[in-house]
Amino acid sequence: MPSETFEFQVEARQLLQLMIHSVYSNKDVFLRELVSNASDALDKLRLAALRDEAPDVDVTDLHIEIDIDKEARTLTVRDNGIGMSYDEVTQLIGTIANSGTAKFLQELRETKDAAGADGLIGQFGVGFYSGFMVADEVTLVTRRAGETQGTRWTSRGEGTYTLEKVDEAPQGTSVTLHLKPADSENQLHDYTSAWKVKEIVKRYSDFITWPIRLVPEAGDDGDSGEAETLNSMKALWARPRDEVSDDEYHELYKHISHDWREPLETIRLQAEGAFEYQALLFVPAHAPHDLFTQGYQRGVQLYVKRVFIMDDCEELLPPYLRFVKGVVDAQDLSLNVSREILQQDRHIRMMRRRLTKKVLSTVKDLMSSAPERYTTFWREFGPVLKEGLVTDSENRDAILAVASFASTRDAEEPTTLAKYVERMKDGQDGIYFMTGESRQAIENSPHMEAFRAKGVEVLLLTDPVDEVWVDAVGEYEGKRLRSVAKGEIDLGGEEDGKDGAEKERQSEEYAGLLGWMTEHLGEDVKEVRLSSRLTVSPACVVSDAHDLTPALENMYRAMGQEVPRSKRILELNPEHQLVKTLNRAYTEREDRTELTETAELLHALAVLSEGGRPKEPARFVKLVADRMERTL
Ligand code: ADP
Repeated sequence: MPSETFEFQVEARQLLQLMIHSVYSNKDVFLRELVSNASDALDKLRLAALRDEAPDVDVTDLHIEIDIDKEARTLTVRDNGIGMSYDEVTQLIGTIANSGTAKFLQELRETKDAAGADGLIGQFGVGFYSGFMVADEVTLVTRRAGETQGTRWTSRGEGTYTLEKVDEAPQGTSVTLHLKPADSENQLHDYTSAWKVKEIVKRYSDFITWPIRLVPEAGDDGDSGEAETLNSMKALWARPRDEVSDDEYHELYKHISHDWREPLETIRLQAEGAFEYQALLFVPAHAPHDLFTQGYQRGVQLYVKRVFIMDDCEELLPPYLRFVKGVVDAQDLSLNVSREILQQDRHIRMMRRRLTKKVLSTVKDLMSSAPERYTTFWREFGPVLKEGLVTDSENRDAILAVASFASTRDAEEPTTLAKYVERMKDGQDGIYFMTGESRQAIENSPHMEAFRAKGVEVLLLTDPVDEVWVDAVGEYEGKRLRSVAKGEIDLGGEEDGKDGAEKERQSEEYAGLLGWMTEHLGEDVKEVRLSSRLTVSPACVVSDAHDLTPALENMYRAMGQEVPRSKRILELNPEHQLVKTLNRAYTEREDRTELTETAELLHALAVLSEGGRPKEPARFVKLVADRMERTL
């Protein structure tokens, strides 16, 4: 079959351009990426063989080979793994499936400094393409295990690639790089140097569990020596802890996470006894951009007795720890273990509990031993960890202990619940919080006025999940979590000189107006009452203690659930001149047509001031415009 030429998808072309005019300063890592792909391909083939899905395939000598041709200036990475079919090559190599790539390219263009660019590139597994950092032409020849025909893919990385079916192709994949000239100024080393290749493999890929062999160069007599295995192949998690360097751990992290950056934290755990396993877990330093999307792949791989069994094994950690990457190697499971079996396995459930506690206790340790790393952790993963407050009641206290929240006390520094409680005023009957879109929106909301005036600290909760967990959790150390926008608030009347008798007098004075307004606005509010939270604004709306907040109602609706719209409560500030005048007009006037409009307007203002929208914006505008005109 003749070769056919195709165009790269736009994103792929952009990415290649970046690789070619490399923004990434450490070019050696191309080899790590190719070896990593080869290793995955070998894992997949062995697994297929274990499951009898590759009956006619020889799996006795699975390995990776690196072949250097000094004269032709090529370097080939070859594996006899699962290989790819013709269609797979077009799908996997010709396009970039990752939806975040467009966003990434945008960010990359905006990032001028090289260090920032390195970090950004690392977010997106651009593995195979990294070959174009060091090569001006790349050829990939592959044959899928069990198929007879192979595929050759070639590209100079400049917009097009050619594809061709080939009859003679060994099973597995070989990637041949036609190397650019070495150029020390651009950190482009001489990758035809066996010494250099050995060094790179040792540094980045030592732990790969398959042999990585360097094919010896043919001598003058055409005789070639024994292939040398470059890596120790020792699984890091099986080696004694003090023998493994941080760098080695980090390389394993990069291999399994496809993140090119260092992890934030490495966690090792070993269980002996009836159910033996080793776990090596990593907390990344950055949240992946798709952490909250549906198809997000969890990171923990399952091995059984050193044999890779599956990627993103959901049974090993709860969903709220889905950002954790790593490896769990269980000694006492069958190699044929399936997801169904895992779901029911008592040992797996125990392991999951233990791993969960270990991750949480590691975070707890960070709080005291490395506050800066803790801050990074919470910034990146706090929003997802808080999901656990709703879904994992067993670890609720452990999660609350590592949680921190923005607070009115300090614009920069978040607080823990423990510290909040320490600072609570005598007689304060709960931990006050407010949920909202942003710090600014919350701070400007009328509900905060009395709290500000009296210096009562309020936690500012701005993640979507905050709407949910506060209700689920309810209290912390016997102190109720109380929304400043819900229920009755009593911040202690004496301080502002208003005692019980004064309040009584006020409620008598306003009783008529409140009753009349409640009736008149009955369609929209369930009650109109006097407020103890306002100092500046005339009115605000609040929810009953057990009602859903408007944001939560909207969330449920967005998820397609029917929820009745709950009526809210309108609160008036009895100290506000507008409210006082309204009350006087109410008691003095016979004709209340004007006043009904004022009542409506007051309600609309209260809704607006918390960032909501009046029920009938057009009517609201007309009423206001009429009144403005009259004052001119
Ligand atoms: P990533 O490895 O991050 O998925 P790559 O661009 O490196 O991205 O590879 C894309 C896909 O191509 C891989 O996920 C894999 O399915 C396939 N692939 C790459 N190299 C090989 C190989 N040596 N053998 C089999 N499949 C491979």
